[in-house]
Amino acid sequence: MKQFCMREGNAPRRAAPPLHTRDARVYMNALYDRKGPRMTDTRHTKLLIIGSGPAGYTAGVYGARAMLDPILVQGIQPGGQLTITTEVENWPGDTEVQGPDLMVRMEAHAKATGVELITDHISSLDLSNRPFTAIGDGGTTYTADAVILATGAQAKWLDLPSEEKFKGFGVSACATCDGFFYRGMEVVVVGGGNTAVEEALFLTNFASKVTLIHRRDTLRAEKILQDRLMKNPKIETLWHHQLDEVLGDENPLGVTGVRVKDVRTGATSEIPCKGVFIAIGHAPASELVIDQLETQMGGYVVTKPDSTATDIPGVYAAGDITDHVFRQAVTSAGMGCMAALEAERFLAEQEEAGAPEPAMAEIAGR
Ligand code: FAD
Ligand code: NAP
Repeated sequence: MKQFCMREGNAPRRAAPPLHTRDARVYMNALYDRKGPRMTDTRHTKLLIIGSGPAGYTAGVYGARAMLDPILVQGIQPGGQLTITTEVENWPGDTEVQGPDLMVRMEAHAKATGVELITDHISSLDLSNRPFTAIGDGGTTYTADAVILATGAQAKWLDLPSEEKFKGFGVSACATCDGFFYRGMEVVVVGGGNTAVEEALFLTNFASKVTLIHRRDTLRAEKILQDRLMKNPKIETLWHHQLDEVLGDENPLGVTGVRVKDVRTGATSEIPCKGVFIAIGHAPASELVIDQLETQMGGYVVTKPDSTATDIPGVYAAGDITDHVFRQAVTSAGMGCMAALEAERFLAEQEEAGAPEPAMAEIAGR
């Protein structure tokens, strides 16, 4: 189920859309244009789950088994981040499983328990009153008595003008998607975490040489991955360096190399390459709630201690959107479980107390 998403030749293009709101809208509009006119209906649910990574699907399974008839909106990346990797070796119960396969199984599990899966992307969410209101790019309005935010994280970029210029034309944030197009070519990977090392290792399947550029001389990646990196004869590591500029041709647009800077001396040098893979981490996808919920450390939604509850009653956050520490599939799934159990308890209490009060009244007293 890997997606190879660049055009043949020297002008590669991304196909799997990244999780940027603008791109998401283009993607969803294209989807609905193909299907015919946009829907403009309203759907009510006791529990709305936004996101279809490990957190969202696990919340779905628990929510459905609690008879909450959840609606789960999948977003532009059904299955989430694990769909852009290959082997996952730390999911309990599987010595090794392909990320996309694992997510297909999670989706099937959620569906089998009765979760209603919807292909849509939420473009706005109003948490000021209950029921909460979400608007989908497909034109549907979703109202919900409780919401679980499981929108995960999206790739970070260096924000260099040259990086932006060559995005899709030699610059990528997904080796699994784009590595195939660099057969026999030299590529660089920027970063020092698990993702960077995994991307570098994966790229050796295609590239003639991979240079890992890291700004320090210590990797964050797990020891087992570091071992594999050091033993791979196709990988060279450039310590204490930062990407300064992506170099390339105008016509046709394409990368020819990178200029790197030694962070200790400021000296610059050039590395010839056709592909540049940026793997410097992920940022929480919290745009929908950034002005409505308390966030920390660059947008991670704050939850109560030992809980997935946010500062608005009935709104829960699970997975990478709230976790700046662990950011693993298994911890995300665990939080998805917690969120559904907490939502179930909240909804039961609301039912016992009678009709739901507007959320703002409770927020005022928080
Ligand atoms: P995500 O998986 O990020 O999913 C987010 C979901 O939200 C997506 O379905 C997206 O479509 C949806 N969404 C976003 N915005 C909206 C919106 N506005 N409307 C509707 N839906 C929306 N972890 C491990 O434990 N083991 C590994 O081997 C491993 N390998 C990895 C390899 C790579 C390359 C990467 C990038 C990550 C890896 N991780 C690994 C980390 C792991 O993938 C994440 O911790 C996990 O996927 C987070 O799950 P999540 O459910 O919080 O969100
Ligand atoms: P990460 O762990 O946050 O690492 C990001 C790396 O990029 C760091 O080495 C960092 O350098 C570097 N970096 C950040 N900003 C930079 C900049 N502006 N310029 C240059 N370098 C920069 O991110 P990740 O590797 O994407 O991993 C994210 C999470 O997913 C982690 O929790 C990870 O464990 C998990 N994950 C797990 C697996 C697995 O289990 N096999 C695989 C992939 C991801 P410094 O080190 O100097 O800060």
